[in-house]
Amino acid sequence: MKYDTEIYDVIVIGGGAAGMMAAGTAAKRGRKVLLIEKNSDLGEKLKITGGGRCNITNYELDTRKFLEKYGEAKDFLFSPFSQFSVKDTFSFFEKKKLPLVTQARNRVFPKSERAHDVYATLKNYVKANGVKILYQSQVIKMNTKHGEIDSVDTKTTRYQTKSVILATGGIAAPFTGSTGDGFKWLQKLGHHIEKPSPDIVPLRSSTHWVKELSGTSLSFMKITFFSQGKKAFSKTGKILFTHFGLSSPLILNSSKQVAKLLEVGPVSAEIDLFPDTNEGLLEKRILKLFDHTKNKNLKNALYELLPKKVAETIFDLLRLREQNKKVHSVSVEERKTLIHLLKHLPLQIDGLMGMDRAVIADGGVPLSEIDTKTMQSKIVKNLYITGDLLHINRPSGGYSLQLCWTTGYVAGMHA
Ligand SMILES: Cc1cc2nc3c(=O)[nH]c(=O)nc-3n(C[C@H](O)[C@H](O)[C@H](O)COP(=O)(O)OP(=O)(O)OC[C@H]3O[C@@H](n4cnc5c(N)ncnc54)[C@H](O)[C@@H]3O)c2cc1C
Repeated sequence: MKYDTEIYDVIVIGGGAAGMMAAGTAAKRGRKVLLIEKNSDLGEKLKITGGGRCNITNYELDTRKFLEKYGEAKDFLFSPFSQFSVKDTFSFFEKKKLPLVTQARNRVFPKSERAHDVYATLKNYVKANGVKILYQSQVIKMNTKHGEIDSVDTKTTRYQTKSVILATGGIAAPFTGSTGDGFKWLQKLGHHIEKPSPDIVPLRSSTHWVKELSGTSLSFMKITFFSQGKKAFSKTGKILFTHFGLSSPLILNSSKQVAKLLEVGPVSAEIDLFPDTNEGLLEKRILKLFDHTKNKNLKNALYELLPKKVAETIFDLLRLREQNKKVHSVSVEERKTLIHLLKHLPLQIDGLMGMDRAVIADGGVPLSEIDTKTMQSKIVKNLYITGDLLHINRPSGGYSLQLCWTTGYVAGMHA
């Protein structure tokens, strides 16, 4: 093993969103910083965030209200957010000539809608402040002396340091480099790790018509989940059918509750295609439709009511003997079945997609083991922990990256 003779003030392990923010901030304070990244570039995950558009934060300038989204972690987070809030995210990026825009559901994106521009802005922040960057260098070990970390090893070289900021991310989307290395080291150092499981993740369904609707989205429907024969919860909004099941922000944000239901048994669901219309009113609407389409094929009439692929699915589910059935020959019973399907379209939920499809993984280091004024470990004094390594539940909508900006900044200010 080679020895690097430099002694760094700070070594940042992992060059994702949190690591870049931490490295640039520490270097700006005049610290001698080494950033070690195992990929051949920084920010591989950042580049694919928000479908390539990067939902950078969520526009809620009242910190107390913003923190409500982090559940049990909210009290721990007040201190770091008093140092770097949503407002600071705006000024940080806008000062660096990356204007931001607020879109539906208060989600904030770069005006260019290019995640690549967010990555480039942060990489420039790191470089402009004189951080030394090592690419394609996987850290394999952190070495301690008298209870503090004094060096870290890559496969070839030992680097000495006065402090370490750990920013190796979680285990969601491991193809971007986040393979959970940090969790193993932290456990060895005495930290507890809440077991990571995929969170904010699409749902799997083997129901045959779901696959057939792959690529179709319904902009306004209600989905109700059932467990053990009882209604568990409902959500209203947009849904996207895929070749494996269901997606869309609404589905991603339901996955945690669904995961809990799956722990106790099978889960089924029903989609209400007309959440605003009760069965009586829907029947009136259909009678009106049938009145002016009476000589048409039922399938063609349904095209006037629903998107084409959805109409075909509903028609197939009616299981009529005649494929060319005319509207005027639809029986009362068949009409009732149609209305029931439109309000209670049934499907099975088989499970959650895996880590490769997860936006975040639940789990990580509990905040009770961290001094959140500084993001310093309460177990190892010169170790700072950031980003997806932390056990903080949150919804989609920019809340994960805001945690990276805040915890990365705070660690960078104190290491
Ligand atoms: C598809 C997708 C879309 C998302 N979209 C959004 C969004 O729009 N808005 C939002 O708020 N959040 C989004 N997220 C979540 C967000 O991307 C993460 O919360 C965030 O990127 C985590 O940043 P991080 O710096 O903690 O870790 P990461 O980005 O995972 O970075 C960790 C880095 O550490 C490196 N590393 C790991 N181990 C080692 C090692 N041993 N040695 C050296 N380097 C190592 C990795 O290569 C990686 O570069 C999305 C996630 C995914 C997967």
